[in-house]
Formats: sequence, structure tokens, C-alpha cells
Amino acid sequence: SSTVAPVPGVRDPAPADGEFVAEGRRSVQFLLPVYDEEEGIEHFHAELASTVAVLEDRYDVSFLYVDDGSADSSLEKLIELREHDERVCVVSFSRNFGHQKAITAALDMCEADAAIIMDTDLQDPPRVALELVEKWEQGVDVVYAQRRTREDSRFKRFSADAYYRLLARMASIEIPRNTGDFRLMDRRVVLELRKYREQNRFMRGLVSYVGFRQEAVLFDRDARFAGATGYPLKKMLRFAGDGIFGFSTVPLQVISRVGYFVSFLSVLGAVYALGVKLFAPESSVPGWAFLSIVVLLIGGIQITMLGILGAYVGRTYAEVQRRPLYSVQMVAGSPSGVVRRGE
Ligand code: UDP
Ligand code: MG
Repeated sequence: SSTVAPVPGVRDPAPADGEFVAEGRRSVQFLLPVYDEEEGIEHFHAELASTVAVLEDRYDVSFLYVDDGSADSSLEKLIELREHDERVCVVSFSRNFGHQKAITAALDMCEADAAIIMDTDLQDPPRVALELVEKWEQGVDVVYAQRRTREDSRFKRFSADAYYRLLARMASIEIPRNTGDFRLMDRRVVLELRKYREQNRFMRGLVSYVGFRQEAVLFDRDARFAGATGYPLKKMLRFAGDGIFGFSTVPLQVISRVGYFVSFLSVLGAVYALGVKLFAPESSVPGWAFLSIVVLLIGGIQITMLGILGAYVGRTYAEVQRRPLYSVQMVAGSPSGVVRRGE
């Protein structure tokens, strides 16, 4: 911006808040959560590195792997990768904190101009990353990869589809459908995201929440290359809850609606009983059966509603504890990805 020749030791005036001043080449960093991927991780890195090699003449490319407390030899494999490829940085969690927190840690450490979050099982094809970069070059801040098709079990496809419909109806913001965490984010979005420190994290929701210019790139999601999913049903249900309870208070409103409805039913019951007494005193209102059914119904509804309250109370409790989101036990390499060749 300045036309004056730089004076040694004197820096340009500080940039405005949040403005990023590029020094020479711009950088792209891949943020890569890893959990028990020993079978496929080397192949993944080879694929990714060779596919994105075309970016090298325009950008400094680097890879930030976060090992999320893998129980297998993934961490050793990653350290080995680093020995062959100096652009690799490995961060290791002290235990398994979960996919969303692994992404969070990577975002916390990333200093690149663009961050690309990707699964490390080749379900997110590396070639799509090139399209994400292209869109970013056109000035889009968040380029999210949206699934046109996916190679997953019928159950997963069906449940994911139903879930995203439900979420779209309930959430206070628009969260794009059929979209995972595979996306590119400009530095200024990454800086915004860092301010969100909630415990039960639904990153794709948070990214929508921060705004900026967001656009989709469609892709066909492949099958997992090797190994097994790190999201068994129980984890997936929890994660689904994080999306709904984190971005909607509709379930709380449902409580009072159900309350109104049940009260209305009880008025109907009273009118019916009174009617029978007044106009058909010879037939009697069935006693204990009617009563026990009503008691069970009300009991069931009450417990369900308590459960909804509990979901919010539990999440509130997790927040007031103010625990750090994750613990890192080791960092190998430079997370900033500043490895300039020839230095
Ligand atoms: N993952 C992680 N921590 C976990 C579970 C998964 O870091 O506790 C990583 C995993 O290695 C992968 C990504 O998160 O790179 C997505 O997980 P996965 O492929 O198992 O989920 P799916 O694609 O089956 O939904
Ligand atoms: Mg996967």
C-alpha cells in the first residue's frame, strides 16, 4: 500500500484491526484431524500432497495434522510423515477430545491466509480442495464443499438427510444442508471463529453463524479409503444434539406448547365426564383404566420435557465450568507452517 521504499527497522503503520497484510507469498494450510487412521494416513498424505502440488507456485502450502488421541499407531505414522515432508506439522492431543475439538485446535494454531479443513480418510477428495481455492481467489471468504452424492450406508444417508431438514427448520440461522466440515476459510473468518469457545461444538453451525461471504462447491463424497468411522451411532446422536441445542431454542418452546395441549385435553375430559353425569347418569365413566392411562400419559410427557430441559441445563453446566477445550501433549514442527524453502 505504501509507495515509499521501506526503511530498515521502521515498519509501516499497523494495519487496521483484523486486516491481514501479506508479506510476499500467501499461504494455504490444510487442517487435518486424525483419529485411528493408521491404515490409510500415509496414502492420504501422498494423495493430498501430489494433488495440491499445483498450488505450490502460487502459495506456501502446509499441512497441520491434529492427532486426536489415536489408540493405534497414527501418531507414529504422522511423525514419520514429517521426517519426509518438512511442510507437515503434527499436534498431538493428550487424549481423544473429539473431531470438533481437533478442528478447533487446528484453527487456533493456523496462521495461513486460507485454512482448508478436511477428513483424513479420503472421503473428502483432495481435487475438490483446488476448486475451493479457486473460489477463494474470486473473493469468497468461506467456500464449503456440499455433497451432491455420498458413498455411505443407506442408514447414514437417510438419517443425515432427515437431520439436516429438521435442523434447517429449527435453527435460528441457515446451516447449509449436506455439508460437513470440508471447507476453506479465509484468515479473517478463522480469526472470528476463534472467539467462539463453547464446549459442545458444532463447527459447521458456528461457521454459518459468523457470516461473511459464503458459497458452495458441489462434490461427490467418496467412500472411506481404509479403517472404520470414528463416529459410531452414540457419538453421532450426541453431535446431532449439539447442532440442535446449540443453535435452537425451539425445543424449549415445545415444552410450553405440549403443556397447553395437555391442559386442553384435560378440559375436554372434564367436559366429557360432566356430560355423562348430567345427561346419561345410567352409564358411568370408566374409572381406573381411564385414570391410569391419563396418569401415565402425563408422566411420560413430563419426563420427556424434563429431558429437554436437562439437555440445556447440562450444556449450561459445561459452560460455567469454563474448562479449556483440549490439551496438547506435543507439537512437532511449526504450526504456523512457515517453512520457506531455501532458508
Ligand atoms: N476424527 C477425530 N476424532 C474423533 C473421530 C474422528 O479427529 O474422535 C477424525 C477422523 O480421523 C476423520 C474425521 O475426524 O479425519 C471424520 O471422522 P470419520 O471419518 O470417522 O467420520 P465420518 O466421515 O464417518 O462421519
Ligand atoms: Mg469419514
